[in-house]
Amino acid sequence: MKGLESDIPIALGAGVETRPEESAASGDDSPVKNGRRLQHAEGASHPLRSTSVREPQPRGARIRGNHRVDQTEAAARFIAAPQHEKMHDDRLWDLRTKRDGQMHAIPEWEELRTLASAIKEHTLTHLDHYLDEFEQNARANGVHVHWAMDGDEHNQIVHGILHDHGAKTLIKSKSMLTEECGFRSYMARVGVEIIETDLGERIQQLDNEDPSHVVVPAVHKLRGDVAQVFATHLGIDPADDNVHHLAEAQRQATRPLILDADAGMTGCNFAIAETGGITVCTNEGNADLSANVPKLHIASVGIEKVIPRLEHLAVFIRLLSRSALGSPITQYTSHVRGPRNGGEMHLVLVDNGRSARLALDKFWTSLKCIRCGACMNTCPVYRRSGGLSYGATYSGPIGLIIDPTFNRHKYSALPFSSSLNGSCSNVCPVKINIHEQISAWRQVMAENHELTFVKKAAMKAAGVLLAHPALYRAAIATADSALNGLPRFAVYNRLNAWGKHREVPHAPRESFHSWYKRNRSAS
Ligand code: SF4
Repeated sequence: MKGLESDIPIALGAGVETRPEESAASGDDSPVKNGRRLQHAEGASHPLRSTSVREPQPRGARIRGNHRVDQTEAAARFIAAPQHEKMHDDRLWDLRTKRDGQMHAIPEWEELRTLASAIKEHTLTHLDHYLDEFEQNARANGVHVHWAMDGDEHNQIVHGILHDHGAKTLIKSKSMLTEECGFRSYMARVGVEIIETDLGERIQQLDNEDPSHVVVPAVHKLRGDVAQVFATHLGIDPADDNVHHLAEAQRQATRPLILDADAGMTGCNFAIAETGGITVCTNEGNADLSANVPKLHIASVGIEKVIPRLEHLAVFIRLLSRSALGSPITQYTSHVRGPRNGGEMHLVLVDNGRSARLALDKFWTSLKCIRCGACMNTCPVYRRSGGLSYGATYSGPIGLIIDPTFNRHKYSALPFSSSLNGSCSNVCPVKINIHEQISAWRQVMAENHELTFVKKAAMKAAGVLLAHPALYRAAIATADSALNGLPRFAVYNRLNAWGKHREVPHAPRESFHSWYKRNRSAS
């Protein structure tokens, strides 16, 4: 794998890839340090020094019932932890550049994206037909099929199946759908022990945190954070943060639980209508264990996961892992069509708001998402604030357009956590116009009076300024001379959110308007 990666040029004919935020902030006025022009947050962020002092892991957004989630508050805490912020930013940017290498190695990449988008749009616009076909074929394969309207119903159905079998322990592979449903906490309430088998997901479970990324759930944690968690729960030496030791400790602790479990659960990446089978992609083989070791297998399937035919699967398999991790394929691509010998298999098809989203003119194409995480890896806001700062099941650009469909008020501030640079849409393997949908959500929030008081006041003031050109030019001239003349403490204070973690651009000596006027009248 390593050799293959090093053979692939990172950016054919383009030199080093530019981070989207850097291309957006290419003005000549940014500060210079050691002969290099600083970009964006670098101007004010602290350099990462190697230190033996362990930086505490910043925690996610503060959740208070149905109150609006304040992503910026949690993001500020993440940025204030420089070791975590730098590791997170670098790690995800590494995934993005590896993805670019894979993309450039496939000449028909753009055709694949177009095809994937067309297959998804066709399926979503004929969803009832393909779901019927899938159900019939799954039943013909000997699978029990259930339908759940929402997360609660999903949890009750699964609990009912477990209860009928007297099952008290369940091993489970990673599934964002079950996170949506609050599955683990429900099962804890009814006395069923859940054991996550994905390494990152297990770390998050032991640390009582949600996944912070759809593909790499514990990516916001440093090795030392994981060692702390394992020291508490698995009894290892907290000073031993060797990744191989950590992975082995988890393996040793979890294997016996897998072998003894009463039931197994998987998610589903693709449900094939033509065959009634499901495909689950993992890098640890843990879905195979969950599906095949216990005699009882339950798979939770979002209704948007269905695709018409087996041949379509190839399109998505070629795109998924390349977009997600920059690897040609996941280590395990597991196909399950029916129960193991002597076993029983159940599929729970879950709506949980998907039908309602399908009816939203501007947002229905978000259902094309194959949860690759590429939009998160490229997003400058996500990379610097960590997935848990969003306080919702889905974070990053895709989260900004899905989360408000679950709770418009609670997630009303999220669509503003984006620079709208469009990089998310550019990398999306199924061509979702993510940044346009984020912008559309902002309009919805404004129309539904969901803006904060400060944002509303700022928009009102901007409206007045923009409607009066003379006033606008006077304000700009005043701001320019203030920026150039005021002492630093007067510009960088707590009222200046822009300058909290970055340098404010130097004001130009002359506005474009006056330059244009001067040069035009001179000609
Ligand atoms: S929106 Fe696109 S890029 Fe983002 S996770 Fe979904 S498929 Fe991947």
